Amino acid sequence: MSNVTPQYTIRTPRNRDPLSMSLVIPCYNEEDVLPELRRRLQELVSKYSFPIEVVLIDDGSKDNTWPMIHSYSKEDGFIKAVRLARNFGHQTAITCGLDQTRGEVVVILDADLQDPPELIPEMLQEWRDGYDVVYGQRRKRAGESTSKKFFAFAFYRIFEKIAGLKVPRDTGDFRLMDRRAVDALQSLRERHRFVRGMVSWIGHHQKAVQYDRPERFAGVTKYPFRKSLFLAIDAITSFTYAPLRLASYLGLATSALAFLYIVVVVALKLVGISFPGYTSIMAAILLLGGVQLTVLGILGEYVGRIFEQGQQRPLYLVDQIQGEPLANTAPPAKHAHG
Ligand code: UDP
Ligand code: MG
Repeated sequence: MSNVTPQYTIRTPRNRDPLSMSLVIPCYNEEDVLPELRRRLQELVSKYSFPIEVVLIDDGSKDNTWPMIHSYSKEDGFIKAVRLARNFGHQTAITCGLDQTRGEVVVILDADLQDPPELIPEMLQEWRDGYDVVYGQRRKRAGESTSKKFFAFAFYRIFEKIAGLKVPRDTGDFRLMDRRAVDALQSLRERHRFVRGMVSWIGHHQKAVQYDRPERFAGVTKYPFRKSLFLAIDAITSFTYAPLRLASYLGLATSALAFLYIVVVVALKLVGISFPGYTSIMAAILLLGGVQLTVLGILGEYVGRIFEQGQQRPLYLVDQIQGEPLANTAPPAKHAHG
């Protein structure tokens, strides 16, 4: 029997420390949490002997975030500060951050310390055991509204059903990735990015590490309901065209109903019962109008995305970069992806 399984599908323990590590932290109006974040990062960095860089991406903040991270970068050699030209959104800021990293392993964290850096040693242990993606999975979520939890619960179940892609439950973007996985992820240059779905899509060896998610350390959430809803729409439209099939299903269902209706009305007419028409005509017009506009709207979502993808604008624009902590380490080897 010939062995056709490529070698990389077998998980081989690495049993060593990474050559270097990068942390990616998107920050949008996070001035209240930055001092504590910096303190916790200093603690983490002092624990390890291999070089570490922390890439802080200022996603077009309007508060003091940029001056603060800019000066941190000058004082702490391990910090690289990147300012985007404007607010591009969380998922794009992560993408920019990943593009800037040089480490052999990369960890994505939120700035608000809801993704505790103290979990990184445990994640690194799984990497040593040969996993390429190690994600943080929440056992408990403190300080999040019931509606947000319900929305998340419903979304992941619906998404899994219609997109046929398993995104691990109760995860955010908190994860550690091997360079190979980062390269795979970064080779997907789609505009509307649902990073945690894309990470599931690339495969490789993935593993969860459980933790209790604390409350945001300070400040307020940068994800109001509206943004979460848009992220959910991006997630669905970029992983499945199932909603487009809705049109066919709705069409078939309406035809079936209409057919039944005709049979009933004709039968009643034959036995001498007839209805005045106005109400039923109005009902039919409104129902069909509603269904048609909904279907058009769904179609529009996809057409709009094709339009934006067709423009081929860059995903983001960088305004300024300060610091290059891993300048003296070898650049990461590129992994080819067909
Ligand atoms: N964030 C960002 N750009 C945005 C919105 C949010 O970079 O437009 C960052 C934010 O600074 C934080 C992370 O994304 O580091 C997650 O945001 P947040 O903690 O407010 O979301 P929540 O935990 O409430 O879902
Ligand atoms: Mg948060």
